[in-house]
Amino acid sequence: MKIPGKVMIPKEIIDFYKALNSTSSQTESSMDICLTGEQKELYNDQKVPLLNFIDFMPDRDEINRIFGEICQIILTHRPQVSVEIEKIRAELDVENRDLRLLLEQFVWQNETYIEDYVIEREINGEILSLVLFNVAKPLLKVYADAIKSQVPYDQWAQNTCPVCGWKASIAVISKQDKQRLLHCSLCDTAWSFKTMACTQCSNEDHSTLKYFSVEDDEAYRINVCEKCRGYIKTVDESKAALVKSAVEEDVRTIYLDIIAQQEGYLKTAISSDGHSN
Ligand SMILES: [Zn+2]
Ligand SMILES: [Zn+2]
Repeated sequence: MKIPGKVMIPKEIIDFYKALNSTSSQTESSMDICLTGEQKELYNDQKVPLLNFIDFMPDRDEINRIFGEICQIILTHRPQVSVEIEKIRAELDVENRDLRLLLEQFVWQNETYIEDYVIEREINGEILSLVLFNVAKPLLKVYADAIKSQVPYDQWAQNTCPVCGWKASIAVISKQDKQRLLHCSLCDTAWSFKTMACTQCSNEDHSTLKYFSVEDDEAYRINVCEKCRGYIKTVDESKAALVKSAVEEDVRTIYLDIIAQQEGYLKTAISSDGHSN
C-alpha cells in the first residue's frame, strides 16, 4: 500500500522534539567499564542486556540538572501541561531520593513501580513518562557509549537493545551490506536484526508481515505486523542520504508514526513522546 509522502507536521511539534533531544549529559563519557568474562558469556549465550552489568548510578546533581532542563523545555513548548509539570516538580523534591530511584525503575521498565507511584501521588502518568524518558536518554547514552567497544552487537539477534533492553524506534537498512540495523529508542545503540521479522514480537510468518511505502519516496517505509499490530519506521540508506543520526531521523519522520497509528498500528517501543501506546 502507498501512503502520501507530503504530510506536513507543524513546525512547533518538530521544534519540541528537537529541543528535547538537544539535552546532553555533561558526565565524563570516558567512564571505565570493563566486563568480566562471565558477564560476556551471559550476554552472548543468555542474551542478558549489558545494563545488568553496569552500575547505572548517574550523579544526583546531573539528574537534577537534566530534570530541570526537560521540565523547562516542556513548559516552553507545551504550556497547556504546565499544571501537570508543576505537580511533578513539586512531588519530585530534587533533594530527596525519589527522582533517582524513579529514574532507575523507569529505565529497568518496572511498570508496576511507576504506575503505583503515579496513582499514589495523583500525577499525570503520561507526562511523567515523557519527563523520565527524556531525562534518562542523555544519561544512558553515556553508559552506552562507554560500553560499546566491549562486546559485538552483530550476534545479538534480539528485538530489544543489547545495552538497555528497550525496543527500537527506527530501523535503518545499511547501504553497505543491506543489514537491518535497529536503533534503540532510549540509548541510541544500533544492532542488527533479521530483515524479515517483526521488531515488536519477532513474528517471522511472512503472510502477516507487510509494509506501507511512501508515495514518491522509496527510502521510507512503515513495516507492520498483523499478528501483534506493531510497526516500525524504516529508512533505506541506498535510496536516501546516509543516516547520520537515527535520533534526528526519528524526529524528521514523525509523520510516519502518525500515519501508522491512524491505520491502527501500535508503537510499543517508547519514542520521543515517552509513552507506549
Ligand atoms: Zn538501548
Ligand atoms: Zn509483531
